Amino acid sequence: MEKMTYRDFDRYLKDYPDKNGRFGPYGGAILPPELVPAMNEITEAYQTICHSSQFINELRRIRREFQGRPTPVYHCERLSNRVGKCQIYLKREDLNHTGAHKLNHCMGEGLLAKYMGKKKIIAETGAGQHGVALATAAAYFGLECDIYMGEVDIAKQAPNVTRMKMLGARVVPVTHGLKTLKEAVDAAFDAYMKEYKDAIYCIGSVVGPHPFPMMVRDFQMVVGIEAREQFKEMTGFLPDAVVACVGGGSNSMGMFPAFLSDPVDIYGVEPLGRGPGVGDHAASITYGKPGTMHGFDSIVLQDENGDPLPVYSVASGLDYPSVGPEHAFLHDCGRVNYVTISDDEAMQAFFALCRYEGIIPAIESSHAVAYAIKLAREMEVGSILVNLSGRGDKDIDYVAEHYGYGDILKI
Ligand SMILES: *Cc1c(COP(=O)(O)O)cnc(C)c1O
Repeated sequence: MEKMTYRDFDRYLKDYPDKNGRFGPYGGAILPPELVPAMNEITEAYQTICHSSQFINELRRIRREFQGRPTPVYHCERLSNRVGKCQIYLKREDLNHTGAHKLNHCMGEGLLAKYMGKKKIIAETGAGQHGVALATAAAYFGLECDIYMGEVDIAKQAPNVTRMKMLGARVVPVTHGLKTLKEAVDAAFDAYMKEYKDAIYCIGSVVGPHPFPMMVRDFQMVVGIEAREQFKEMTGFLPDAVVACVGGGSNSMGMFPAFLSDPVDIYGVEPLGRGPGVGDHAASITYGKPGTMHGFDSIVLQDENGDPLPVYSVASGLDYPSVGPEHAFLHDCGRVNYVTISDDEAMQAFFALCRYEGIIPAIESSHAVAYAIKLAREMEVGSILVNLSGRGDKDIDYVAEHYGYGDILKI
């Protein structure tokens, strides 16, 4: 694909995706025929509603009064000094209500469901983070909420299962296959096919068939728009680099668009887990090939038959064998650099943020912080803005058991 620089991105958001939901060769909606009318209904409703001032004003009010937006940008002085002269800043999505960026698109999807006159929202969840955010949105809007979750994950993620139930959601155990995320996606899609007249499917990242990658990006973009303004007001400049972790790719697609047409280096950080061997990581762009999964074309970690490979990361929110189609496009055109961080590097950053800044980050977000630390050492001067996608309260028991309380810290 032809390479693009920041100068080529002035009209980008108008041109991408095209009307078929394509970002160059990626994206689209590869669906069973029964689902085509349902997806078209969502696309049409979204295209109308996203231009309505009533919808926009309502979403703004919700963000301000319910979510606690804008979230601050914070200068990590102690961490930066520890590392060198380059200054590290965080966009604090960990301070968004429910503790992560996911609520940004869940509230948007909930409001859309309400405008479309749906009674129920349906989704899958792996670690339970998307399920909790969606259950929160359902309670806010007075919608029913069915969350499909593998039996194995239900056993592993007890606190999030409790949260969803307290918020009034129905957690539906999925008992076939490996009983984890992939089976949960299948089960949620099956349920949606039967109930689409009354229900809407709410995806958890910038993945799935069109219009979800576009819609979730649009709802998340508030993160980068706020952060760019806040950073300029604090420092008088733009950052030299912007960094975010990439699982499916929603927090990063929240951050990146505001900076695409600026002379800013952009980095998406993929999880290298235990290393580059098959089944040891989930670095889909770094090690994957073009392929199709869950209704869209993208870059996929796959075997020679095109079946998705097993994935692993210490951060359960990052272990997906593909990535949002827009990331695949931004990779191929060279505008965003995709890099990797291992489990051990992420855990170093986790403890560094705990000890030097008083912030317990999500292990997912720690991948972005770890790369910022590496980059700060290389750059020596300048500034880096990191999207801190979530807080780490959900991770503390696991971390204490496997990594202790920070004695391993070498930064
Ligand atoms: C789910 C999650 C992620 C990964 O999802 P993206 O769609 O890639 O953003 C990252 N950070 C946190 C805190 C999460 O909960």
